[in-house]
Amino acid sequence: MSEGESNSVRRRTFLKGSAGALAAAVAGCVGRGDEESATAANRQTVHNNCWICRASCGQEVVLEDGEAVDLTGVDGHPKASAGAGTEGTLCSKGLAQLDKTYNPNRITRPYIREDGDLRAADWDEAITYAAAQLETFSEEHGPEKLLRYQGYPLGGDFHDLLFRDLYGAPLQVGRKTTCHGPFSDSWEWMAGYGREWPDWKNSEFMIAWGRNPMESFRGQWEPKAIMETIEENDATLVCIDPRYTKTAEIADVWIPIEPRTDGALALAMGHVIIEDELYDEAFVEEWTYGFDAYRDAVADKTPEWAAEITDVDAEVIRQLAVGFAEAAPSSVAFPWTGLAFQGNGFKNCQNVHALNGLVGNIDREGGTRHWQSGFSLADPFEERGLDVPANHEDRPTPEYDDYPYQRHIRDLSHNAVPTAVDRGDIRGFVNNWSAPLKSGNSDAWAEALEAMDLVITVDAFWSGVSRRADVVFPAASTLEQPFLDAGGDGSYSESGWVTASNAVIEPIGDCRTDYQIYSALAEELGWGEYFPWEDAAEFYDEQLSGVGLSFDEVAEQSYEIVSDVGYEQWLEDGFDTETGKFQFDLDVVDQYAELAEETGASTAPEWHPPDDDQYGNTRDEEYPLLLTDGFVEQLSRGHCQALDEAVEEYHDRFGFRYEEYDGNLLHINPVDAEPRGIETGERVRVESPDGEVELVAHVYEGVRPGWLFTAAGFGEYSIAPDQAGANIMTMNTERHVEPVSGQTDRNHPVEVAPAGGDGV
Ligand code: SF4
Repeated sequence: MSEGESNSVRRRTFLKGSAGALAAAVAGCVGRGDEESATAANRQTVHNNCWICRASCGQEVVLEDGEAVDLTGVDGHPKASAGAGTEGTLCSKGLAQLDKTYNPNRITRPYIREDGDLRAADWDEAITYAAAQLETFSEEHGPEKLLRYQGYPLGGDFHDLLFRDLYGAPLQVGRKTTCHGPFSDSWEWMAGYGREWPDWKNSEFMIAWGRNPMESFRGQWEPKAIMETIEENDATLVCIDPRYTKTAEIADVWIPIEPRTDGALALAMGHVIIEDELYDEAFVEEWTYGFDAYRDAVADKTPEWAAEITDVDAEVIRQLAVGFAEAAPSSVAFPWTGLAFQGNGFKNCQNVHALNGLVGNIDREGGTRHWQSGFSLADPFEERGLDVPANHEDRPTPEYDDYPYQRHIRDLSHNAVPTAVDRGDIRGFVNNWSAPLKSGNSDAWAEALEAMDLVITVDAFWSGVSRRADVVFPAASTLEQPFLDAGGDGSYSESGWVTASNAVIEPIGDCRTDYQIYSALAEELGWGEYFPWEDAAEFYDEQLSGVGLSFDEVAEQSYEIVSDVGYEQWLEDGFDTETGKFQFDLDVVDQYAELAEETGASTAPEWHPPDDDQYGNTRDEEYPLLLTDGFVEQLSRGHCQALDEAVEEYHDRFGFRYEEYDGNLLHINPVDAEPRGIETGERVRVESPDGEVELVAHVYEGVRPGWLFTAAGFGEYSIAPDQAGANIMTMNTERHVEPVSGQTDRNHPVEVAPAGGDGV
């Protein structure tokens, strides 16, 4: 029996026994802990960082007898606050870190597979066993057949150093094919920077396009900056989303657009802006490429044309375009996963980005930002005179052009992995804090894992992967290990920052830090010389020497602002693109131009509807509804966060808190529910051409008619011991990909009906 099974404690039992310690962590964004009790002799407050969503919010941790009992943000922190002199807070996901760290279902010792079953092992045995397996694998298959996959690891660089540079495994699945591929690829080719970020706090007109920044953010600074600019600049917030989110709640305008038609809306806005001569002529003239192609693309794309497609009133489209253009350059249109999860997502994102170029808001105050940090950390390998080999280079990799549905351009697409295993292109897998069975074709992935010769995972919970692994290494959380992050995107629009923290509690059970795990494996494999540091803190200390700081001093004070980064960075050296300009037309990007020709697409902005061929499946009489899953506030990064408190809070929002049900909900509009005889609390069967799942219905008007939404992170392969709810990615298949970026398309035509039997 696995550890997870033997320790399986029902949610309500756990909450009953832990209510005191957990009360603070379910309260949403909170301020400081109890002042009176904080003065007790056995209490102290220390700094740490939250890494639940990889945003690095600085946090203050209250320790009592060495145990973390309370968390709050750090005032002025670039991620946890709205900037200098403002209060720092943590979101509900961050507060759930206590639940995550002290969760009874956590993996707390190594495991190895023996005679088909996982059994507990000690560290020496597990490291020796894993190293021997890796050596055998390399001899039999070559390192090129070992796939690397990273989620939210603390020691991602150490994982890459060992498995990519030293072991020589070239293949990886990056988050681009599971999260933001269409968005970041289009932006990179158009503006030369992988991911822009809005300059929220200086903006006057913000369009959150398929994104929910009041709940799903990259640090607490984002919602705070939005609130601040609404209050202080009287800024306008527009939310384009078929779901009534928290962002929609505070927006001036909520546009519940027909899903997957965002590209048509963006083209019509471009049409209005050009017709009304509201665009930034000087910027377009001097700093853009391909404007003629863009103007041609929008020439006949009137608001009336788009209204038919998008179900957005033509007059609303006109007002949106004019408001956005008149506020420029302090206006921003910002897409994210709502568009990236679409099979036609690349063109939709390209069309939205074109609007930003058209009004000239690029890297300007209140517009988009090229968030450079403005400094470089030192290279600890150079400091030590270590020349790290690049053993992954020149290794043979599969020709993905030969894969059905896979025309994407870089990395390996998540959904292609099962076929790669079938074809013998991949035979093994090293997983670092990720949950691939929640990110795409789950069942095919589960079979692929079972067919592989070697699966090694570093993680904290029993999941679809760890239960199928040959070796399981129990990893420490940020509370239990040193941490460093540095960057630009945050509440200081014109500055770069570093933030650091030390371990503040002892690792739970026999968990170890990422550095300890990778350095021990490296030692056993004969590469110990490349891990000469005592621990990660020493490595980070050498990195920080590049900005004249020590790890201890940054960790002590939580963060430091270290650089000035001005706006309009393109004025100096131009854009980092083929033409040195913002590119409306991507005909100069060879990679994309070839793919566009092959797929019959235009290199310029264009409307691509879903078409059952390569841009996403359409609905029909048999499957008339569209179902999408996504991350919600309490469960954002839901693939690894469906923990007790998070689920409680999610349910609380929809009135399900006191129901005996631990899973996700199928949010369905009354217009769709009533004719089908579906009521809130009822169990329903959801059927697609590729499978079926059962969910509990929540009937309300917060989702657009014809469209259904459910939270990711539940059901089969999740970390919840009872696997409650449904993982709709069991209905996802290899063909559900966006063809340019290789990103998983999470939209599925379905029909729903009452399942019969008991409900919640
Ligand atoms: S935004 Fe929330 S989950 Fe993300 S790092 Fe900050 S507190 Fe943690």
